[in-house]
Amino acid sequence: MSLTLSTNPLRRIASDLIVIPVFGALADSAVVDGLDAAFRHAALAEAKRRRFTAARGQELWLHADTPVLFLGGGTRPTVPAWYDLADAVVRQAARLHTPRVTLGLGPLGDPDAIGVIAEGIALARYSFSKYRSRAPKIEPLAVTLAVAELSAPHRNAVQIAAARADGTLLARDLANTPAADLAPMDLARAARALAGKGLRVRVHDRAALRRLRMGAILGVGQGSAQPPCFIELAYTPRRARRRVALVGKGITFDSGGLSLKNADSMQAQKRDMAGAAVVLGAMSALPALGLPIDVRGYIGSAENMPSGTAIRPGDVLRAYNGTTIEVLNTDAEGRLVLADALSYAARQQPDCIIDFATLTAVVRTALGPRCAAIMGSERRLVGELIASAADVNEMLWEFPLIEEYRRDIDSRVADLKNVGEGHSGTIVAALFLREFVGGLPWAHIDFSSTVMSDGFACHPRGASGYGVRTVLRWLERFAAQPVARSAPK
Ligand code: MN
Ligand code: MN
Repeated sequence: MSLTLSTNPLRRIASDLIVIPVFGALADSAVVDGLDAAFRHAALAEAKRRRFTAARGQELWLHADTPVLFLGGGTRPTVPAWYDLADAVVRQAARLHTPRVTLGLGPLGDPDAIGVIAEGIALARYSFSKYRSRAPKIEPLAVTLAVAELSAPHRNAVQIAAARADGTLLARDLANTPAADLAPMDLARAARALAGKGLRVRVHDRAALRRLRMGAILGVGQGSAQPPCFIELAYTPRRARRRVALVGKGITFDSGGLSLKNADSMQAQKRDMAGAAVVLGAMSALPALGLPIDVRGYIGSAENMPSGTAIRPGDVLRAYNGTTIEVLNTDAEGRLVLADALSYAARQQPDCIIDFATLTAVVRTALGPRCAAIMGSERRLVGELIASAADVNEMLWEFPLIEEYRRDIDSRVADLKNVGEGHSGTIVAALFLREFVGGLPWAHIDFSSTVMSDGFACHPRGASGYGVRTVLRWLERFAAQPVARSAPK
């Protein structure tokens, strides 16, 4: 796939299909205004005949020497409308087998719009066919974005979009891979593959976990033939003045352990490492984005299996920060691996910690497949993440950390127990995680709801890669904020 920017008039760009987004009335469209008189007249006549109102998703075809699709985007350009447009370009090109598509953006093609469209096209072109004996052929596609004006920010937007999309596709690939081919040490291998490209990677194997006294990750992994591990990644640009920790849940398969899941709930559990995939996908994009922030990634990874060596309900684990945890339900394992990873991250004293986890199934009941839950200890951080998610069309909704529920995880035999009293599981899980962040500014994103796509715009069915673009957008915003000068010591 190639993407080119051009200021040439639409009709002078060689293409097999022209797509023109329309917002509001066709007659008022600046793109249509720029067309030659005869063509413009034909378009307006056809719009009248077909009662084209530019409603979102409405199509108007004009069969000239090169077919033209006017695509309704609603009354004004929005981020979702640009993703719809990107999705339509990919879909129509595949349907018509047209290798060259031109998108007529004219003055609407500012750097923001171009970034979203370029990203959307790359996301929509994704297909996971590694396990098919006859992989569906993906035809080559050359897209030209015809814009009124072309400067460095326009080109820069395309570069940033490519980095964000690549990171998202990496996360999708990892979460789509069957658990048989993606055990914790395979996840570590995927992390190591990123090393040397501006990132440092360190893997702590089972022996190292024992030395580090990461009893929680060890406990979750002890029932599996696949050893657990803890993965550290570091992006440390020299001019960094802030430090951020990204933490991901990396359960490569969650059977529930001895608190075994039923068959239906187990079907999609290869994706229980999607939080780790967000960390790897986001970290992989950082060298290309070049943001002046020190970013550390931490992944606690294990396979949760029932066996003669598995952890039993009632067993007590000791996490990295010394907190003891009575494990009453072995299916509440994500918070255990996160307990070690979060307390390790907190010990490095970053400015803030953000964790991603497919932690509780009920978040999907509450919010459905387009929206994930966010909770945290700092209003500003949570608010900025919600705004960043909206920028990239990934919805986040804040759940409250209800203090009265904290006592639900008090244990009679240890410091904490890993499950509450059965209500508000998403909130209780977050209250559990809060015990391990050392009082630092922290946000927790539970995205069991959005981890798999049902096939919405730019998100083919399967792993969505949700979260990578949100955190990258947030880092971009964070980098643009002035650094508060600390008082001299
Ligand atoms: Mn579980
Ligand atoms: Mn799980």
